[in-house]
Amino acid sequence: MPKKIAIIGAGPAGLTAAYLLGKANENVTVFEKDPHYVGGISRTETYKGYHFDIGGHRFFSKSKEVEDFWTEILGDEMLERPRSSRIYYNKKFFSYPLVAFEALTKLGVWESGLCVLSYMRAKLFPVKNPTNFEDWVVNQFGRRLFNIFFKTYTEKVWGIPCKEISADWAAQRIKGLSLSSAIWNAVFKAKPTSKDQVIKTLIDSFRYPKMGPGMMWEVCTLKSKKMGVQVEMNCAVKDIQLNNTTWTVHTSDNRIFDGFDYVLSTAPMRELVTSVTPTFPQQAFDSAKHLEYRDFLTVVLICKDEDAFHDNWIYIHDPSVKVGRIQNFKSWSPYMVPDPEMACYGLEYFCFEGDGLWTSSDADLIALATKEINQIGLTHPEAVVDGYVVRQPKAYPVYDQTYKEKVNDVREALKAYPGLYLIGRNGMHKYNNQDHSMMTAMLAAKNIIAGKEIYDLWDVNEDAEYHEGGERGAEELKKVGGRMVPQKKN
Ligand SMILES: Cc1cc2nc3c(=O)[nH]c(=O)nc-3n(C[C@H](O)[C@H](O)[C@H](O)COP(=O)(O)OP(=O)(O)OC[C@H]3O[C@@H](n4cnc5c(N)ncnc54)[C@H](O)[C@@H]3O)c2cc1C
Repeated sequence: MPKKIAIIGAGPAGLTAAYLLGKANENVTVFEKDPHYVGGISRTETYKGYHFDIGGHRFFSKSKEVEDFWTEILGDEMLERPRSSRIYYNKKFFSYPLVAFEALTKLGVWESGLCVLSYMRAKLFPVKNPTNFEDWVVNQFGRRLFNIFFKTYTEKVWGIPCKEISADWAAQRIKGLSLSSAIWNAVFKAKPTSKDQVIKTLIDSFRYPKMGPGMMWEVCTLKSKKMGVQVEMNCAVKDIQLNNTTWTVHTSDNRIFDGFDYVLSTAPMRELVTSVTPTFPQQAFDSAKHLEYRDFLTVVLICKDEDAFHDNWIYIHDPSVKVGRIQNFKSWSPYMVPDPEMACYGLEYFCFEGDGLWTSSDADLIALATKEINQIGLTHPEAVVDGYVVRQPKAYPVYDQTYKEKVNDVREALKAYPGLYLIGRNGMHKYNNQDHSMMTAMLAAKNIIAGKEIYDLWDVNEDAEYHEGGERGAEELKKVGGRMVPQKKN
């Protein structure tokens, strides 16, 4: 008898689980609140034939299982793309990853000398056990480099001072990157001998679907449907209810779906936990209610300039403009732009839902983006022929100083809810890429198919590294890191 599974959200995690469970002949229904798009934050939106991501999405994973999944879905439609990115700071563009000679000349001898001294000082007198982002990065690179290359951009992204951001984020985001490795890479362009040695921040090529990341998830949806998976679009899950051993799902259009053995949720933890009956214990409920998110909007500018710049993206560290990053979608894939004489840029603004940026009219945002891209010197206002705005709520789960305890409260309380799995980025409140989201979905699917709790999803790290031994298969995975957990069900 097939197991009956409800999946909340048709993003990478939800669709990976749906595909794998569909393949195993389970009875799967996916609920997606978006009326048109699948792919969640990894969707590709379209306007007048122009395609663009919600932030450029590189397809890169240390996990062979994830890479194989992408190949199975899209095959030859995956392009191998060169990475090209720069940092804009103090009216200058710096190659990123840094090129030592260029960085030295652009910073100037005096500033470079001060950076070296401040680096030495940080090495001699490091902050012991750094708990916040600022202390962690200063320990690693010195205060002057922190101020130039980390502070402004990071504060634009998170909207809070670097002292209030958990060191976890730095450790995860720039793990493995030290000043010495950055300089070594800059001078010798050292090629890693295996995928395990790749420093994520520095990889110089990646895969990318021909028509953007949404293509992956659109094809995955079609293939899942062919295997019998039901996908309900424009169908937000309002609440879920546990009745003895099965789950009932209530949707925003007042429909009731019942009899589910499992619910896999990729909805933001804050929303999901507060919508479950029986109610979570007070402490876990309050913890979930106080999780924070950072929101995001992209102003897409369609421009009549064929070759203004070739970077995939540029980080804008300069505090004189509000824009945080600029994407050049034609560099991601030439197929994203229908007319070769045109270009399509995405100016990314980090914000909070309801703040001044978020509530600005589209016309004002397009005017702001046009002014700022001109100020930076990448194109001029006359080249801009059209614009479009995409708002993405809850783009980033915030790693503040208390998020970990809050998430732990929820994890602990979850044990009393058999059959309920939180998976994916906002589902688990983990700042991660698609591969991590997918890996948690893959392990949840394996547990469900096996009918027992083989894998603890919370043990997948942000690099989906449980699968660094992907070739060795699932059995080996257990040895290299997939912790066996006591059985919860059956
Ligand atoms: C700016 C930016 C750049 C990024 N760049 C990269 C990159 O280069 N490479 C990479 O691999 N990753 C990147 N990521 C991360 C990637 O977008 C996420 O890891 C991935 O989309 C998470 O997948 P998910 O399925 O867990 O969640 P999501 O993508 O958030 O999908 C969740 C889905 O659930 C739906 N949903 C939510 N609540 C409900 C409800 N109550 N009922 C029904 N449906 C619901 C949502 O509409 C959504 O479709 C980037 C993210 C951002 C913000």
